[in-house]
Amino acid sequence: MIIELSLIQLSYGYINNGSGAESFFCVIILLTSPDEMPPFMSKKTRPIVLANSEAQTPEIFYSIQGEGPAIGRPSIFIRLSGCNLYCEWCDTPYTWRFEGVTFPHVQNQKYNKVREQTRLHSENIIQLIEDYPCRHIVLTGGEPLLQQAGLYPLISQLSGYTVDIETNATVKPERHFDEKVSMYVCSPKLSNSQVPENIRINPEALAWFAKDSKSYFKFVVNSASCLDEIQQLVSQFSLKQDRIYLMAEGMDAKSIESHQSMVTDFCLDQGYRYSDRLHLRLFGNKRGV
Ligand code: SF4
Repeated sequence: MIIELSLIQLSYGYINNGSGAESFFCVIILLTSPDEMPPFMSKKTRPIVLANSEAQTPEIFYSIQGEGPAIGRPSIFIRLSGCNLYCEWCDTPYTWRFEGVTFPHVQNQKYNKVREQTRLHSENIIQLIEDYPCRHIVLTGGEPLLQQAGLYPLISQLSGYTVDIETNATVKPERHFDEKVSMYVCSPKLSNSQVPENIRINPEALAWFAKDSKSYFKFVVNSASCLDEIQQLVSQFSLKQDRIYLMAEGMDAKSIESHQSMVTDFCLDQGYRYSDRLHLRLFGNKRGV
């Protein structure tokens, strides 16, 4: 049985060796959870919880990036399961809306957690991706930054790869983790997600991303009120105009079209960039594309 404790014990003092002389001693006992160890100390890697494809295999696939600053770029996508938010229009509800979860979703479908998740270690994932003719990885979700402890050994071993992270920007990357990341595509959620503001906006994390030169921001828009919220966040966190992408909300090409002229008008007005959701147009709303 493995007992996981978090305890650092420091004992020190002097020992009289019997001849009158005293020797100083110091003993450090470190008992800590492997999860809390800095990665360089931990010999035990934590499994990465991946979302599953329809075929119940880990959702790792090679495709064209459909959104944001790297749109059109061939990429290997690794989809993580688990999210700390519960957006009503989330297009990957199978990463978090498991049986027992009561947060509403437009599709109102619940998923079996055992069917929807696979746990793999970094070496297993490397075996699955090494034959793709591509050295660019996108870690997406769910919320990948919830699994930094498991992902760090993976991204540390990926020599010659670039790694982008798609995040909701509520979790700050650890320093050692950040050093391995090429780009963050942050998607702070607006009130149209139906998630309360104090949960979907973490000011400390968002301020960190706003200052980081590797971060871009992507907002999902489905009404004119979203535009006011975006302006407020831009002002509050000093988000840079040329790093902001707006996308029309929608789970298929038709629903995207219903919002896109409002979004393009606002981009033209404010100098923000328009992002399509190219994968939905090219491949439709399905897993693994
Ligand atoms: S943050 Fe992303 S993955 Fe999480 S619920 Fe919202 S849209 Fe879905």
